[in-house]
Amino acid sequence: MPNLVNVTEEIVYGLVRFLLHGPEYQTFCHCESCELEITAHALNKMPSYYVTTNTARDEAFKRLKTPENIQQINRQIILSIYAVGKECNHNS
Ligand SMILES: [Zn+2]
Repeated sequence: MPNLVNVTEEIVYGLVRFLLHGPEYQTFCHCESCELEITAHALNKMPSYYVTTNTARDEAFKRLKTPENIQQINRQIILSIYAVGKECNHNS
């Protein structure tokens, strides 16, 4: 079944959840709306990568998940965590 998927989005969302639940960002809000807000903020700063088949998705994952690329994405996510965290008022 063909399906429209942004591989960048899948990678970024996974990394956002991973980073937010790691020890370094314990003080930031972990609520679902912050998770999504951080993901959206980071995604708006980077190119999307759309595919329509599972084969293309696997290939895109391989191509995008290089250590250098992940490092660059993580850097943007950290900026986004700080940018969104400043505005969050979910954790009273
Ligand atoms: Zn929140």
